[in-house]
Amino acid sequence: MKPLLEVKRLSKTYDGRQVVHDLDMTIYPGDIYGFLGPNGAGKTTTIRMILGLIQKSSGEILFAGKPLHLLADPYAQIGCLVESPGLYHNLTGRQNLVLFQKLRKAKDSARIEELLEMVDLQSAADRKVKDYSLGMKQRLAIAIALLPNPRLLILDEPTNGLDPAGISEMRTFLKKLSEQGMTILISSHLLDEIEKVATRLCIINQGRQVAEAPLDQLLHTHRDLELVSPKP
Ligand code: ATP
Repeated sequence: MKPLLEVKRLSKTYDGRQVVHDLDMTIYPGDIYGFLGPNGAGKTTTIRMILGLIQKSSGEILFAGKPLHLLADPYAQIGCLVESPGLYHNLTGRQNLVLFQKLRKAKDSARIEELLEMVDLQSAADRKVKDYSLGMKQRLAIAIALLPNPRLLILDEPTNGLDPAGISEMRTFLKKLSEQGMTILISSHLLDEIEKVATRLCIINQGRQVAEAPLDQLLHTHRDLELVSPKP
């Protein structure tokens, strides 16, 4: 099987300080790829480079075999949830989806219903977003990212701030999405949060790759990192 995303010797230097060192990642179609590292390890910087939000200092990023900058519409192929999503809180969940769909000049009400079902927000679709829980807002933001039907979904610490019930809902949702064929990259600083869903895992610490392999090969060898305790 050909990889969907390949990251080769990716590095980033800020003001003379290297924060990501020669990172390699291989994500295959259908993977739930866990990107794990303690705070400040370089996860967000790496994700921003993959999304083309910041320039890489060196290395290669290939999507379906092509350099990222050669993709016709990268935002249609790679959906993402990074930091706090820009939702319209005085609109309902459904109205948010319709609005973001219009911004993409698309009009497909069946897709909106499909997405509401996929993120389990059907019954809350006509409530204002300001009345949603954080987990519901995250799922709505993911539905918006899925509007163009991307091939890869990148989630940067989507469980941050969620309570245990919200984390469990997010896990169930990611499994469901993966069963429907989505490839997912999810970052976290907590092994507990992603070991139940991830198929492959990349562990970084201080910008350096510690390991990259299928989950079962890694679990018993890298529990020594500061990855099992919550953020202070
Ligand atoms: P967290 O879980 O805390 O978000 P992270 O693994 O996502 O951590 P990054 O945010 O990628 O880590 O940060 C990696 C390192 O790069 C940190 O030392 C951070 O201070 C540094 N860094 C991030 N952005 C910048 C920037 N714009 N300029 C200079 N240094 C930066």
